[in-house]
This record gives sequence, structure tokens and C-alpha cells, in this order.
Amino acid sequence: MDGRLPSAESPGDARVPAGSPGVRLPRGSMAALALAILLAVAGGMGASATATTPPDAAAYQRDLNFFWISDLIGGLAVLALFLSSGWGGRLGAVLSRRLGGPVRATTAMIVIVLAAQSLAGLPLAWCKGFWHEHVFGLSTETAGHWAADQATALVVQSVIALVLGWIPALLLVRLTRFWWLGLWAALCPVLIATMVVVPVAILPLFHHYAPMADRDLETGLRAEAARVGLGDAPILVMDQSTTSKVPGAYVAGLFGTARIVLYDTLLEKMTPAQVRFVMGHEMKHYLLGDAWKAIGAFLIVMLPGLVLIDRSGRAILRRWGGRIGARQLAEPAAIPLLLALLSLVSLVTNPILNQGSISIEHEADRFGLELTRDNEAAAGTFRLLQAEVLQPDDPDWFQRIFRLDHPALKDRIDFARTYHPWTEGRPLVYGARMAASPP
Ligand SMILES: [Zn+2]
Repeated sequence: MDGRLPSAESPGDARVPAGSPGVRLPRGSMAALALAILLAVAGGMGASATATTPPDAAAYQRDLNFFWISDLIGGLAVLALFLSSGWGGRLGAVLSRRLGGPVRATTAMIVIVLAAQSLAGLPLAWCKGFWHEHVFGLSTETAGHWAADQATALVVQSVIALVLGWIPALLLVRLTRFWWLGLWAALCPVLIATMVVVPVAILPLFHHYAPMADRDLETGLRAEAARVGLGDAPILVMDQSTTSKVPGAYVAGLFGTARIVLYDTLLEKMTPAQVRFVMGHEMKHYLLGDAWKAIGAFLIVMLPGLVLIDRSGRAILRRWGGRIGARQLAEPAAIPLLLALLSLVSLVTNPILNQGSISIEHEADRFGLELTRDNEAAAGTFRLLQAEVLQPDDPDWFQRIFRLDHPALKDRIDFARTYHPWTEGRPLVYGARMAASPP
């Protein structure tokens, strides 16, 4: 139910590949947001710039904090409108009458409410994803391309909501008191299926993927991959330059669809040694099953999360069910409430998942360093990335808690410069997985 694509990541701070409009998801609560705005402003003012901080970084990241909070408030405002205006109750009654069953009506409600949130969020999405990126010189996207991507994202989101929405709808109607347990059990196969399908059926709707054109570089990368037994791993190049200047890479897919994706902007801006380090980082995700760790972490945090949603949802309907137009969670009019509660819960679960992700990413940096033993290339990679994504040396607390799912780039630069156990006769953490010595 969460919008994260746990398998997709980049060496920057975006887990969803930059430039791909993700499926819009329910966000958090008004009170938490009001507090967050105050604290984010305070945190932004406290951020200090140093010699390596890009000059616009603090302003850029403060804006992104603002967009993050506004997105949350906007999403909740749409849900609040459904709940407080009586629209939800009236729409639920119409859907139940027309569609001839509570499961169909609830599924349709999920599709409609999510689409309403996305449509209402379009102006903010334009400010954040198009206008602001152009102001800071990070975007290469045309207005037409942006609009086409948004339209595609809305269609994709609606199809996904239709295909998957019947699962919670059915569980709410059939299991009533224990719908949350059924949904939790269903999450694992749904997440796995999603991760298998996304790289082959969804991501290509937004970007073009092609084999590497630079044969010499590919030969070098394959030789590096062969040292950890991944000589045959699919390596694809994504046309990031159609939307953004920012370099990146990620691993996506599971089983037969797993692949390592390098942005064309990465190949253009980084030296072959830096690309080899990024490849080493990504291969750790591929080799050590980091996608499975992400699924496991999500399941662990979502079990108490779903219990909380169930208990608080019931309590709210007991008190305000008449106004909302639903007496039980299994009614279509209760869907906006469940989505609002999911947003609130995500305000707690996402920071926890971010910390788990940061630890996985730190280990991927270690793996890349042990494989390439090229401290200068690794540090250079992160210095370049820090300038490209406009990240200050010391990200403010709001960014660290809510937005960063990779270590801060200054921390990655420091680690890249100072981690070299191979020069000190100390054992390597991942040495047993690497054949032969580096070039
Ligand atoms: Zn990574």
C-alpha cells in the first residue's frame, strides 16, 4: 500500500528513479503537518554551509521540505473533504447501488479517491517536479513531456488501484474484524509480484531502456561483475537526460526481471572508474538480496501499523460515523478515512524504513569500495552527486528523518576517503564474495 518501490534506488536520495512519476499515495495528518512546517522552517535556518556545499543547496532542500509537507497536507485535505462534506457517504451509496456489491463499490471508491487526490495535487506536482527543477537548473524536461508523464502516471495508478484495490475491499467485507491480518498476509505476495512486474511493465512507460553502447566500458563492468559471480547480470542504460540532468543508478526487479540500471547522465558525467564504483555499489544490492530485506522491513512495520489503523478507524466511526456516512470500516464511505489513517501511520513507519535503507546503502558503499579499492573514485562520485542533487553537507533534521533514505552525501564522501582496510592488513567484510584482486 505504500508508494515505495523497495528495489529501485539510486546513489542519490531518491528511491523511486528520478523523473519517473511515482504512484501518488496517501499522506499524513494536518496537526502533524502544522508542527512539521514550523520545525522544518526552524531546521532550515539552522543548516550551516561549508566549502563543499553547493551554493543553492540549503534553499533547494528547504523548498523540497516545503513541497513534501504541502503534498501531505494537500492529500489529507482531499480526504477530509470526502469525510466532512458528505460526498463520501453519497458516493458510497451510489456505487453500492450501481455496482451491485460492497467489494466492487469499495474497489471503485479506492480508485476514485486516489484519482481525486492526484488530480487535486497536479498544481503542486507541477511546482515541485517541473517549475522548481527548472529554476535550479536540474531539469531538461519539456512541459509537454511532463504533462504526458503525469497523464500516464494517472492511468497507471488507476489501473493498479483497480487491479489491487479489490484485495483490501474483499478482506474488509469478508473478514470484518480481522481484515488487517488478512491484508498483512496478502502484502508479501503482492509486494513480490509488484517488484517483478514494475521494471518490465511500468518503468518503460516513462523511460527508454537500452543495452550499453560503450563496449569498452561494458567489458570493464562485466569483468568487475564476474568477480562477484554476476558476469551475466542484465545492465541497462536509462534515458534520464530526457527529464533531468541528475546522474544515478538503481537495481530493480526480482527473479527473471532483476536488472542493474545506469542513467545516461551518469555515463556522461562520471569517469569510467567512478562508474565502476557505482556498479560495485549496485551489485551489492543485486547479490545480497536487498530487495528481500526491504520487503521484510516493510512487513515488520506494517503489522502494528495496520492494527493501529483498524483500532483508530473503528473508534472514529463510532464517534463520527454518521457524518462520514459509514458505520463500519467495510463500507465504501470509510475508504477516505482508512487512507488518511494510512498517511498518519506512514509518518511513523517511513522514518523507520528510511533508517533501515540508510544502513543497507552504507553497506553497499562498503561493498563497492572493497570491490574497486578506489577511494578517490568513490569520493569523487559522491562529490559530483552532492553538487548535482544540491545537498548541503549537513542536511537539516527534517530531511534526515523524513526524506533521506541514503546516508548524507558528506558522510558518504568521508567514508569513501577513509575506508581502506586492504592497505592496513585488516580483513574485508565482503572479501569472501570477491574473486581475485582488483585491477
Ligand atoms: Zn544503493
